[in-house]
Amino acid sequence: MKKNKARLNPDITPSKYFIQIEPNLADFTFEGNEVIYLDIKKKIKSFSLHSAELKITEAKLVLGQNSYSTKIKYNPKSEEVLLTFPSSVSGKARLHLSFQGVINDQLRGLYRSKYTHKAKEQYLATTQFEATDARRMFPCFDEPSHKARFILEVIVPKEHTVISNTIEQTISPHKPGYKIVRFEPTPKMSTYLLALILGELEHLKAKSKRGVEIRVHTTPGKKQQAKYALEFTKKALDFLEDYFGIPYPMPVLDLIAVPDFGAGAMENWGAITFRETLLLVDESQSPFSQKQRVAEVIAHELVHQWFGNLVTMEWWTHLWLNESFATYMAYVTVDAIYPDWNFWTKFVLEEQSFALQQDSLHATHPIEVPVNHPEEIAEIFDAISYAKGASVLRMLSNYIGEDHFRDGLSLYLKKHSYKNTSSVHLWEAFEKISGLPVRQIMKTWTTKSGFPVISAKLSKNKLHLAQEVFKQLSNKKVGKELWPVPLLIETGDNQYLSPMLMKSKTAKVAIDPASQYLNLDYNDASLTIINYDIALLARLLPLMQEKKLSTLDRLALVRDSFLLAKSGRLPTEIYLEVLTFLNNEQSYVVWSEVAKGTNQLRRMLAGTKADKDFENFTKQIFSELLNQKSLGLKPKKGETNNNAMLRGIAFAEAGLSGYKPAKNEAMKLFKQAQRGMGVNPNLRSAVYAIVAKYGGLTAHKSLQKMYVESDFATHKQQLLFGMINGCTEQNQKVLLNFIFSSSVRDQDRPFAIAAAVTNSEIKHFAWNAIKSNWPELLRKYGGSKMMGTLITGATSFNSNRELSSLQKFLKGKKIPAAKQSIAQTLEKVQININWQKRDISSISKYLREF
Ligand SMILES: [Zn+2]
Repeated sequence: MKKNKARLNPDITPSKYFIQIEPNLADFTFEGNEVIYLDIKKKIKSFSLHSAELKITEAKLVLGQNSYSTKIKYNPKSEEVLLTFPSSVSGKARLHLSFQGVINDQLRGLYRSKYTHKAKEQYLATTQFEATDARRMFPCFDEPSHKARFILEVIVPKEHTVISNTIEQTISPHKPGYKIVRFEPTPKMSTYLLALILGELEHLKAKSKRGVEIRVHTTPGKKQQAKYALEFTKKALDFLEDYFGIPYPMPVLDLIAVPDFGAGAMENWGAITFRETLLLVDESQSPFSQKQRVAEVIAHELVHQWFGNLVTMEWWTHLWLNESFATYMAYVTVDAIYPDWNFWTKFVLEEQSFALQQDSLHATHPIEVPVNHPEEIAEIFDAISYAKGASVLRMLSNYIGEDHFRDGLSLYLKKHSYKNTSSVHLWEAFEKISGLPVRQIMKTWTTKSGFPVISAKLSKNKLHLAQEVFKQLSNKKVGKELWPVPLLIETGDNQYLSPMLMKSKTAKVAIDPASQYLNLDYNDASLTIINYDIALLARLLPLMQEKKLSTLDRLALVRDSFLLAKSGRLPTEIYLEVLTFLNNEQSYVVWSEVAKGTNQLRRMLAGTKADKDFENFTKQIFSELLNQKSLGLKPKKGETNNNAMLRGIAFAEAGLSGYKPAKNEAMKLFKQAQRGMGVNPNLRSAVYAIVAKYGGLTAHKSLQKMYVESDFATHKQQLLFGMINGCTEQNQKVLLNFIFSSSVRDQDRPFAIAAAVTNSEIKHFAWNAIKSNWPELLRKYGGSKMMGTLITGATSFNSNRELSSLQKFLKGKKIPAAKQSIAQTLEKVQININWQKRDISSISKYLREF
């Protein structure tokens, strides 16, 4: 195995790059010159640096008075070039390189993005370098620990806006019609954080409390949609400077909405790039959920300006330090700015529950994971590095206390500013501040995959607890790991036992016989699920119904019952019975968790004898919800955001399971929309999906037309996913043709295809479309995580026949960046098959009698 060769020779370190780039937006090429200032610590005759798809036209090494010619050998596989000199060299040197490259259409390196302005197609160029694509714009030492200063100079047409990490130092005239923009040197930073964006852009700006200039850029005609982001960024930047006790180090902070963008957003130091849907808000068109998401994503990227940019992981194995903290701290930030949003309930719904789903597969990985090659690195930007890591941090913060947590972070950031770290440096800081054995507790959580299920039963006033590894596919061998799990047991209204740390396999806890509740993990604080025995569950359900348990605990009870049912530890009909205790429930997050579960169940049951009865079951629970007094079909003036979002779910779920009043209302609203009266943004996704299901071909044609005509990315997304979620067999061909047409952007297509395969009714047709477009899909998305995204749609498959055809098709297909996604998808299909086989009869019986 030549695995350890993934790293460059550590004896050659860059300290400064001077880079000049001349992009050409007419033929999508660029030319570059650079000087890299190097320290060569040992005598060598040759060394490698990173370069991918670049042609180096000139190379020489200068040491003092001597200039050495350089032989170049490309190694496309490792994305390196080997430079060889006529004799051995060492000491301080300058490497001069000239090179040429392509402004590609693959959403990485320096790439192009298309937009329409005044009915004309235009392009801008932008960069996306994380994790390993800086090497596609300039030859470099493309590893996070090779920090250096960058001085960037760009030659562009006079009318273009150019954005990079820092502010312009000089703008000088060049050949006719062109200018040279030189930016101030960046702070010492990693290559993956360098950014360059150019094109015709407009912006709104404001100043932070301390005077940092914040600018939000859009393509022409959209700057009004930047208002919300600008206001939020101002507040968040002030908050974070105060929280960390370290000022943001640059005079300017740019946020840029890019029409084509592979990831969600990218934290380039001082020049953060976003998908339009994650930055631009239109007060009349944005659903509240989008506003929340925009705030969360901006906060996430701002946290990175410290966590990741100022202090960076030593190697990608510690990627989680970047992503988990940004994820966790984003919630701290938004919660501080909008306390009435109850943002931690969104954390548990979207991060913690997601982590539990993904990490209970056998195909998972520890938070800290050895990675080497670019594709392996690309694949770990996943639920584990983001959501599980963030959930572990929430657990830690609860355990050591929020103040210690903040002081520990601040200490860590100050001590390691402009340097690189690994997890242990952070544990040291937390231990120093809190005096608790943080390292010892965190070690299992970060170095082992998975999490425990804790089973609980009460006997003779003693609570008997036992932990074991939790996997959804339970007929496979599991490890014997034990986790230190902090537990705060709630025994009554505002009554708790003293906090415990469950470290061993079993534990006994004395319980006062008078205790009303036995709620084991108060506020779902730990990364575990609880398997109550039937007697304890029966005690908790009425408390859930009366909402005596916290929102988070109600959500957790629903979620844990679902996961237990899916894994065969709880009969599925008991999970369904748990849902009947929600007749008083009005929390958006609890119902979202329910909908996640019922949708998975629907896919597992698709095509079976229980299929129709289950549709009736969902119709009943969601129509009852919709008919709750505080809700109803029509939005109410001055209602809470919770209710506005809750109606969206209830409307969609009830309507899609055939509830007539929702169907009729959706048809009516859609007709009004066609006459120019926009549908309430919080109802759009529901209305479009219902119309796509019952409105036939005409509806699909209208939805497509609206999609093409809309220039607001979030509305387009609602239209597209509405069409997909509601599509039936009858319109599958029209739908798939549309998804593969140029009307849908490259950045959205993988998600759209995955969603189509997830829709059980059209899954075979959609999967065949993947198969017949495979070579083109592979060319476009093969190098990124998006190929994996595309394949994950197949988790809707639920039969042995489907599983083996999937296996047959994927066998021997080499897609390194989708290895994990493929393994997870196959495992999820197997879970469906086992679940169906195990529970279909009892589910059918329960549903018939329901
Ligand atoms: Zn991030």
